[in-house]
Amino acid sequence: METKIWYVDNPVNKDKVYPQIVDAAKNLQLGQVVAFPTETVYGLGANALSDEAVQRIFQAKGRPSDNPLIVHIANEEQLNDLVEDIPLNAKKLMDAFWPGPLTLILKSKKHVSKFVTAGLSTVGVRMPDHPVALALIESCNLPIAAPSANTSGKPSPTSAKHVYEDLNGRIVGIVDGGNTGVGLESTVIDCSQDVFTILRPGSITPEMIREVITTVEVDPSTMKENEAPKSPGMKYKHYAPDAQMHLVNGDIEFIHKLIHNSQNQGKKIGVLTTEENKTQYKADVVLACGKRSELSTVAASLYDCIRQFNDENVDIIYCETFPYEGIGIAIMNRLWKACGHSIIEQGK
Ligand code: AMP
Ligand code: MG
Repeated sequence: METKIWYVDNPVNKDKVYPQIVDAAKNLQLGQVVAFPTETVYGLGANALSDEAVQRIFQAKGRPSDNPLIVHIANEEQLNDLVEDIPLNAKKLMDAFWPGPLTLILKSKKHVSKFVTAGLSTVGVRMPDHPVALALIESCNLPIAAPSANTSGKPSPTSAKHVYEDLNGRIVGIVDGGNTGVGLESTVIDCSQDVFTILRPGSITPEMIREVITTVEVDPSTMKENEAPKSPGMKYKHYAPDAQMHLVNGDIEFIHKLIHNSQNQGKKIGVLTTEENKTQYKADVVLACGKRSELSTVAASLYDCIRQFNDENVDIIYCETFPYEGIGIAIMNRLWKACGHSIIEQGK
């Protein structure tokens, strides 16, 4: 299958009809799988009400079938069609953060495909804050199930080029709306129990949520090894580069010793750092991932950097740690998973 690219200049004009979006929407109505930009990462979309269409997503990505999908909607009417009842606090979160990078887990209605929910009684829903995504969902007039548009296990795509690298020939097309904004997947919050729990950290932080609903718990498995994750998909390997990556909690001198030792063993070494420190390292490949002083820029370029290390064929990547605050929590969660939980501590 030849994968089509539908270029759409973003921002889109709401009053204009874009033939590219209409064409992509028609493919969704026909049960095909289409990748599209959101403000977090690129999504791999299909009709959430069709078993056949949703199964095509799992085939294209090689995703395990017990890992549920997030359904993307463009308006409240679509929400009422998917979920049974909406607790008051969930409504407050929607009013505060939608459209935006927050996925709410709610009790599902029966007709949502069991392949979307992985057989659970709940469904994850979000309204993306991206004009191209919203225009596409409006145009096909369907709720769109969409995981990240990468091969399962790889870093999520933040550009149409990343999607093409992973899925060329496996899907009908990609709507190219440029680079995504946030760069990390949505915050996922379980609203199906009395006390809401964050299952996956994202750019909507626990502090921001507590400003709206006072109490929220955070699933400890998001940063602790040996804790069983509360969300089914979280147990899988994620965001991994081809090389072994290690987070290093130590100063630059300590990281240099690690680099030196590994190079002596004939290994090609990558370092993942930020603009502030990049000139201080001598390694085979040194990549600056945004600015430490502005963590949102680190989030935005993290996955692109991990993919660049793959292109450079490094053997080992040493990665600086980030402060565990604000979006830093989500950055550390993704890095920790990308490293397969490996953290090297100085002095240990
Ligand atoms: P992805 O779309 O690849 O970003 O992954 C979406 C993640 O959201 C999954 O890995 C799940 O862990 C989580 N998720 C989606 N639906 C549910 C649900 N009904 N219950 C719990 N977690 C969910
Ligand atoms: Mg994913």
